[in-house]
Amino acid sequence: MNFRKLFTAFAFVCAGVSSAQTVSAPLTLDPAVRYGVLENGLTYYIRKNNYPEKQAEFYIAQKVGSIQEEEEQRGLAHFLEHMCFNGTEHFPGNSLVKYLERIGVKFGENLNAYTSIDETVYNISSVPVTQPGAIDSCLLILHDWSNALLLENEEIDKERGVIHEEWRMSSSASKRMFERSLPKLIPDSRYGLRMPIGLMSVVDNFDPKVLRDYYHRWYRPDLQGIIVVGDINVDEMEQKIKKTFSHIKKAVNPEPRVYLQVADNAQPISVSEQDPEQTLTVVQVMFKHNVWPDSLKNKVEYFLDKVQGSMALSIINERLADLTSKADVPFAGASCGDGNFLVAKTKGAFDVTIVPKDGMLDEAVKQVMAEVYRADRYGFTESELERVRANFISSLESIYQNKEKIQNQSLVNEYVQHFLNGEPSPGIEAEYPLFSEIYRSITLDQVNARYKQWVANNDTNLVVYTVSPQKEGVVKPTAEHMLQLVQEARSIDLGAYQDEVNDRPLIASLPEPGKIVKERPERFGFTEWRLSNGVKVWFKKTDYQANEVVMRAFSPGGTGYYSGDDLIQLNFFNEVIGASGVSGFKQTELAKKLAGKQVSVAPYLSGRREGLQGGANPKDLKTLFELIYLSFQEPYRDDEAVASVLNQVREVLRNREADPMHAFNDSVSVALYGHHPRLVFIRPEMVDQVNYGRILEIYKERFADASDFTFVFCGNFDEDSLRAYSEKYLATLPALYRKEKPVDTKMYKLKGEHSIVYSEPMQTPQCQAVRAWYGPLKLNLKNKLACEILGQVLSIRYVEVIREEMGAAYSLGASSRVNMTTADKPEYMLQIFAPLKPELSDSALQVMDEELHQIAEHGIADSYLNKVKEFLLKSAREQFKQNGTWMGALCTYKDYGVDVLTDYEKAVESITTDDLRKMAARIWKDHNKATVKILPAE
Ligand SMILES: [Zn+2]
Repeated sequence: MNFRKLFTAFAFVCAGVSSAQTVSAPLTLDPAVRYGVLENGLTYYIRKNNYPEKQAEFYIAQKVGSIQEEEEQRGLAHFLEHMCFNGTEHFPGNSLVKYLERIGVKFGENLNAYTSIDETVYNISSVPVTQPGAIDSCLLILHDWSNALLLENEEIDKERGVIHEEWRMSSSASKRMFERSLPKLIPDSRYGLRMPIGLMSVVDNFDPKVLRDYYHRWYRPDLQGIIVVGDINVDEMEQKIKKTFSHIKKAVNPEPRVYLQVADNAQPISVSEQDPEQTLTVVQVMFKHNVWPDSLKNKVEYFLDKVQGSMALSIINERLADLTSKADVPFAGASCGDGNFLVAKTKGAFDVTIVPKDGMLDEAVKQVMAEVYRADRYGFTESELERVRANFISSLESIYQNKEKIQNQSLVNEYVQHFLNGEPSPGIEAEYPLFSEIYRSITLDQVNARYKQWVANNDTNLVVYTVSPQKEGVVKPTAEHMLQLVQEARSIDLGAYQDEVNDRPLIASLPEPGKIVKERPERFGFTEWRLSNGVKVWFKKTDYQANEVVMRAFSPGGTGYYSGDDLIQLNFFNEVIGASGVSGFKQTELAKKLAGKQVSVAPYLSGRREGLQGGANPKDLKTLFELIYLSFQEPYRDDEAVASVLNQVREVLRNREADPMHAFNDSVSVALYGHHPRLVFIRPEMVDQVNYGRILEIYKERFADASDFTFVFCGNFDEDSLRAYSEKYLATLPALYRKEKPVDTKMYKLKGEHSIVYSEPMQTPQCQAVRAWYGPLKLNLKNKLACEILGQVLSIRYVEVIREEMGAAYSLGASSRVNMTTADKPEYMLQIFAPLKPELSDSALQVMDEELHQIAEHGIADSYLNKVKEFLLKSAREQFKQNGTWMGALCTYKDYGVDVLTDYEKAVESITTDDLRKMAARIWKDHNKATVKILPAE
């Protein structure tokens, strides 16, 4: 039973338009944004925003990407992006990263960049602006990125290895096939030959001068946008930006930035590819279409078009989801989308993605495409449109309700899109009335017409891309055959669509309400109610998010109560229950029933508990309680939907072995626990052993007794309503007064050192390694922090040594936490995950040990500790304004008597390098260490 609704996350990025009367009036940029263009052509956006407080985002977006590379530069746009972190005029060597980490800006997490075909974007995020000098330094960094990279030979040579490892790590079956197919999918175009990762032959060998050429040619003010959003003074910021960037010289006779056009195709294009590591067959049918020129996007018509399209997509995807939930369909999944045509921003495509079941390729493609064509032929229905309308309006209301708490991040994204792609950004106050009217006035004819424009009933601009596993006994589907299937589907007439809805009320009748029998204050500003049936409620009203109420519920019990044959059932529990309906409603009917509501409730079963998690918009609080109430009823047995989900699982499992990493997680479990009888390794044939009846029985058993349940609510609710609903929906839940406790399943981690090393054939040779240290640890705030900080300090060291010095990895990290074992005992676990260069994997693992041992013997320099402290303190200030933090802290306190919130900041400050040394020494001495490593087979 999964009540998670399909939210229509309609991004405001593509906003802009007004009501029908003012059609074509251009939309202006949000007046709250200070916008300007300097003499040299550099554009800037500045916006004050207080969420989160005392922080700001610093971005530079560039209309530059791999598309501008010449043949001998393939991969250098991305290489250049890396060089921005390896030496600039004001931040030589690696001092840029070091400086930012010192003020709590974490490399990789807050400090990052990406390069794509048409753009490159750099960000310094969550900068604590109260740190003296932070604002000036961040502007200086943006300045250096725009114009003052050192690009020293030695640093360039050091980075070649890192990028080679990034290529290795990101190489996958789908990437390889895509790269091979792209020149055929976009023929006669540079778009087909400019995947940003580039060619390793270039990365390994290029002459540094070639990189500098690219840099000087394309990194220039007329293609750059500076964006600063956050808790700052706009006037001051504008002066600073002018001061910092005005002296950069305007490009003389700059080469024009041309956006390549993608040609239409009169004849269909069909490409079929295979790879030995591909696990599923996937068919993508694309209908190319023109896109709005950037210069016309600030018009009403653009917005109308977007909304009509989004609504059409929602409806066709609802139809496909309904169809997928039927057991006997020949496909495991199908969905539609609309966006850029593959990698090209100058061409759009409506696309249909189909995942056929094994051996049912023809039927799958025909049936899904017939459904796509049916909507073109007969249109959508009024009842479908009404549900989508309700969902869109509801999302809009929710966003507007929370308008004071819009995140810096989401505003930055709007301005980046405004700069790079001309997406309008008129601001929430302008968008709200415009959207409201459009949503309410849109007609079925408009949505149908929009869809018709997408789905052409001919071969013009049709592109079919098929990927499949390359294995013995499997015939490769030919490109011609795939095309023929799509063409055949056009003549299948399914007749008009019948929209099936279930009109019954969610709850037919309720028992007499129960009572709140006791009220008392709880820690952290919560209140506790005891209800007449034994249920406990903890709640705290907050205004962190105006549009949010978060709910968690838990009860001692969990999977520990079951063993033997039931263990297999438990492994499929979530899928099966997720596909089942809820009292009287199939899952698909429920989604329709909840149109216009923002609410979700999902049950879970963990090792030690059963419970529910979910939340709602405050206006849907009542529905949240109704869904909770229904969770304690018998789920709706939907054999068809469950068979459909199990078929999907079977498809995935059957071909999984083509993926060299398929056994990795199982190996990690064995390294930690040995061959413990409770460990179940999922095999395809186990799907046939799933017993739906038994799973429902387990569900009923777990949720038969609410008397030992605790419900926690945190957020922006009305307390009187919460009281009334608690008495009506929670105090009436069934109570058996069972006394359950978590069961110790004796799943203890092995003592001592254990490692599993094995090899698999691979297309791209790579090594994957996990190393974990663990042992018992008393739970208190100090231990928790020392443990966590040690993990982060080690992460920084590993990046310095294994990535930067050795070039043995692209991304790796350590994390360490205190958790509860099934025996209810606290335990630390320090874990490192690293994709490694195979030849250097032994030495990299050795470094992991040496660095830990080093700290255990000699401690670590203060500078490392202080970086992590700054980051934790900054993050804490943000987390204290999140409902989940308070709920979690209360639960930890109630369970283990440990207060992890009060004095948190003081506790962070008080951690010393000696605390870290002791923690490391303890880990080193315990010496419980598990390692799993997979290598490429010779
Ligand atoms: Zn990279």
